[in-house]
Amino acid sequence: MARPRILVTRPITEDALALLRADGDVTVGPGDREATRQETLDSLRDADGILIVGHTKVDGALLDAAPKLRMVANFGVGVDHIDVAAATARKVWVSNTAGSLTETTAELGWALILSTVRRVAEGDRLVRAGQWKGFGAFFFLGTELPGKTLGIVGAGRIGQAVARKAPAFGMKAIYWSRTPKPDFGAPPRELDALLRESDVVVLTVSLNAETRHLIGAREIGLMKKSAFLVNIARGPVVDEAALAGALVEGRLAGAGLDVYEKEPEIHPDLLRCPNAVLAPHIGSATVETRRRMGLLAAQNLLAGLRGELPPLVLNPAARDPGPRAS
Ligand code: NAP
Repeated sequence: MARPRILVTRPITEDALALLRADGDVTVGPGDREATRQETLDSLRDADGILIVGHTKVDGALLDAAPKLRMVANFGVGVDHIDVAAATARKVWVSNTAGSLTETTAELGWALILSTVRRVAEGDRLVRAGQWKGFGAFFFLGTELPGKTLGIVGAGRIGQAVARKAPAFGMKAIYWSRTPKPDFGAPPRELDALLRESDVVVLTVSLNAETRHLIGAREIGLMKKSAFLVNIARGPVVDEAALAGALVEGRLAGAGLDVYEKEPEIHPDLLRCPNAVLAPHIGSATVETRRRMGLLAAQNLLAGLRGELPPLVLNPAARDPGPRAS
């Protein structure tokens, strides 16, 4: 049987690439940027599998342009850029790396909470600008966490991992979820009630048609003026213009963001807000996690190309396991 052709849209660790190269002919996309749609279409024409690193949009048109494609392996857990239904209709399995980045992304959530409430990034800018004049009883005051309420919006793997760390900071965690999560020891709150009650709201919900702009002007308006919003989910879960407006007008105390509506663009008002901590989508970006993600994505891809059900398949019914289907 011919060796499968595999497109990896951007470089991943050498051990993961070696795994793929042992079984297939591998093409790797650009290291310094995401490939354009046309570049992806050109590389994909004869491909059997694609490993997506980043936000390459996989829709019906792209799948139709790659008639041999049988496997889409995502390097990451969020698959909002992949039309899973369109893949299923074309007998293409889709996998992700769920579970490989849970704690790492939850840590970044806490990094954003702490740096927002204690104004760490703002302080760093002040020091570097040579504007620090020394200690003062009222200088650069932040907000303390003990006794405060942490509201988790979308209590999946990452949301629950964020919540597990709340007691270490003396916080009570509440959550909004469409399904109850026994680990919280309490039923979910209504979203409006959570927004009213929380001092820090952390978004960890997946992005889909129902959660797009889940947090808009109305929802931000329900939050306390003293509250903070942290988004480690996906940018479009928040109406970025509404958030920027609330921060500029002082209707919210601050925001910690890792994700944006049109990455890598950021709403210009957010760039001007001293009380917004802006991270460049680095939720899963540790050496250890990125290695794990690459290996998992490669294992999923190769299993699918062998006709085996990939370990982290999202649409198992797309194909019958067995020798490569035509
Ligand atoms: P997960 O375990 O699948 O959690 C996703 C949560 O979203 C689940 O609790 C799910 O509810 C909820 N949800 C999905 N659609 C919903 C809807 N329509 N209404 C209400 N709730 C809904 O995934 P995870 O591993 O925690 O990852 C969560 C998200 O984080 C990913 O989808 C990704 O977008 C994002 N992420 C970001 C980074 C980063 O770099 N910042 C890194 C990793 C992941 P149920 O429990 O009821 O199914």
